[in-house]
Amino acid sequence: MRQAGLLLTVIMIVLSPLAAFAAPAPVALDMRIAGDDSVTRIVVEFDRPIDVSHQLLDKPWRLVLDFNKIGYGFSDDVVGDKGLISGLRYGDMGGNHSRIIFQARHPFRIRKMATRAEGESGRYNLVIDLEVTGQEAFEKALDRSLTTSAVVNTAQKRDRLGATREKDRPFTIIIDPGHGGIDDGAKGVGGTLEKDVTLAFAKTLRDALTRETEAQVFMTRDDDVFVALADRTGFARQHEADLFISIHADFLRQHGVRGATVYTISEKASDQVAATVAANENLADSVAGVELPADESDVSDILVDLARRETLGFSVQFARLAISDMKGFARLIKNPHRYAGFRVLKAPDVPSVLIELGYLSNKDDEKLMNENEWRRGVADRLVDAIEKFAALSSRRLAAKSSSD
Ligand SMILES: [Zn+2]
Repeated sequence: MRQAGLLLTVIMIVLSPLAAFAAPAPVALDMRIAGDDSVTRIVVEFDRPIDVSHQLLDKPWRLVLDFNKIGYGFSDDVVGDKGLISGLRYGDMGGNHSRIIFQARHPFRIRKMATRAEGESGRYNLVIDLEVTGQEAFEKALDRSLTTSAVVNTAQKRDRLGATREKDRPFTIIIDPGHGGIDDGAKGVGGTLEKDVTLAFAKTLRDALTRETEAQVFMTRDDDVFVALADRTGFARQHEADLFISIHADFLRQHGVRGATVYTISEKASDQVAATVAANENLADSVAGVELPADESDVSDILVDLARRETLGFSVQFARLAISDMKGFARLIKNPHRYAGFRVLKAPDVPSVLIELGYLSNKDDEKLMNENEWRRGVADRLVDAIEKFAALSSRRLAAKSSSD
């Protein structure tokens, strides 16, 4: 790849009558991305100095780098899924214009962007530091960079990977691993922490979705950090999510109770177990010492909104699909669709379910939830359910094989 890029540059120079006068196009020889979900550094190494300008694009969040024509010598799989960066595309835009686009998994801001010579090597590094930010801050920065976006729209057709996928906003799923950080959640009979098992499963589900569908997937956390309940629902609303799945594994006094349960929101609990589970889960904020905002609405108020917006109907629909797909693989509790007043399910415009994978108070459930194979199996069933659900919604969620 690197050699091909260089070779191409060499041929261009030889064939161009202006070769003797025009400087050869710089070649991006290598690209490195490092960091995590909050701060990410991108380094692009060029064989000579470059001029670069940049702009931001929304939906999905992207950083666009524009160059005079450059060659591409780095490997295609340099970026899979690193830090804030979830995708890369690059190509020539026609004329003397080349472009590299980084897609981000969260709104971000550019903390630093600089080029520097690398010692005696003659190479130049373009160094970009990105930092996660809120949607509002991103939009402000976006407005400031809009002046050049006309160029993008006319040029996008030439985008190497095609611009068609960008047109429709992809089906967007928020996976919410319960608890985290200071809030361990429940503790299993064998010592498993709920916050760990929910995160492990959420990552498995995210990876399965990313691998098998074109859904846009976000997690409310992908680390051992505390996230307030209101921030979890707020995150889903901010992304205008099509589905919110909160993952839990509670502890019950009745150690014999086991199996997965899918919960939807309701003012009145379906039964005593549901009421207990919701009460436990709603404690998450106070466990972490987080005060509820004064204007925090009651679940009963939210229900009015939910009904009006038909969100609840979609939530119930997904709960049923999830149960019927999980049935053949995972053990389910008796009456596996239950409901109660979960605060984390109250986003009025995002269909939301809370899945208790099992109960950490049951040693068999605890053992299963710690097994990779079991987690993958359940995740695969949920991917099926999500695909069916997406098919019923207006948003496209094509299987990868059918569009690539
Ligand atoms: Zn929980």
